[in-house]
Amino acid sequence: MSYLAITDLQKHYDSYHALRGINLSITEGEFVVFVGPSGCGKSTLLRTIAGLESSTGGTIELDGRDITELASSKRDLAMVFQSYALYPHMTVADNLSFALRLAKVPDEEIKEKVRSVSASLQLDPLLERKPKELSGGQRQRVAIGRAIVRQPKVFLFDEPLSNLDAALRVQMRLELARLHKKLGTTMIYVTHDQVEAMTLADRVVILNAGQIEQVGTPLELYRKPNSRFVAEFIGTPKMNLMPVDSVVRDGETLNLKLLNSQVDFPANRLPGQLPSSVILGIRPEHMSIVPEGGQISGVVELIEHLGSEAYAHIQLGSGQTIIVKASARSELQDGQAVNLLIDEAEVILFNENDRVVSVIPEEA
Ligand code: ADP
Repeated sequence: MSYLAITDLQKHYDSYHALRGINLSITEGEFVVFVGPSGCGKSTLLRTIAGLESSTGGTIELDGRDITELASSKRDLAMVFQSYALYPHMTVADNLSFALRLAKVPDEEIKEKVRSVSASLQLDPLLERKPKELSGGQRQRVAIGRAIVRQPKVFLFDEPLSNLDAALRVQMRLELARLHKKLGTTMIYVTHDQVEAMTLADRVVILNAGQIEQVGTPLELYRKPNSRFVAEFIGTPKMNLMPVDSVVRDGETLNLKLLNSQVDFPANRLPGQLPSSVILGIRPEHMSIVPEGGQISGVVELIEHLGSEAYAHIQLGSGQTIIVKASARSELQDGQAVNLLIDEAEVILFNENDRVVSVIPEEA
């Protein structure tokens, strides 16, 4: 059952149409991540849910109640910002208890709540410190703790980790995942980082120019993108895209002709009409460098060694460079000619409008 229901939500900033009819249903306890390129409307959507921006159309319902016009403070939501927004003159303990004191919660209850949150976020040794005496990660933990004591129905996170260095970001990401498991509270999280989205989310909402491009589990979006936008946004390095010169139907097989060679594709994986122009998509991990055979060939431009794996940048005859996952112990040399084997089962086809026109076979 839908816990948070967003229906045809619109937001105009004067003449600028920032949210263009958002429809989204979130179930209780879900961890949902909004992701997309800068300016796509992620923060606007989160802030509109929070009541920090007013919508210009549509409705937001939380737990059966229409909250569209409700003041932010009455929505039973708690927001955690990138900037922490802690009170600088208050200790950690006072920052944690502030909202409860404001709400005139009895002292004993406040103490108990602060004690419990402080223990679960390992803030005990820091309770008497002021924010300026804390590291970035510690400040962010206090900001999260301050949201938790209020026991909101939904937590809203606006790029909470983007001010932290890379190592701390990974650590805080794990802490957030653990926290979500423990609390079981619905969480909505905004990030521009697709890795963060993929690792944290039960479901990812990909936004593009004020609209939802696709919603799905991280694996669904990775395996079954609907569009080129999603295919290129999810996965690092990016999916390789190569224009197909022509397609010849040969019984049950489509022969995709490109780069003076041919990739076979089962005709039954194309649900509709053959598009007038076709682009072939294949992820770097679904190609391999083989001593002989393969469908296409190229020349090694450079090898990126990442330790556990390597990525070979291969220049094709067309001049285009694609990326192929290679063995960590790869001894490929720059300038070396190589044959590339495409795993035909993993090929995705796009039409001239960048929509996916192939279906991925279900895994056995
Ligand atoms: P994101 O969080 O995805 O980077 P935002 O939601 O912040 O994007 O912004 C979406 C679009 O709305 C952007 O084009 C931005 O310039 C515009 N926008 C955001 N806030 C305002 C505002 N207060 N006034 C006018 N335009 C705004």
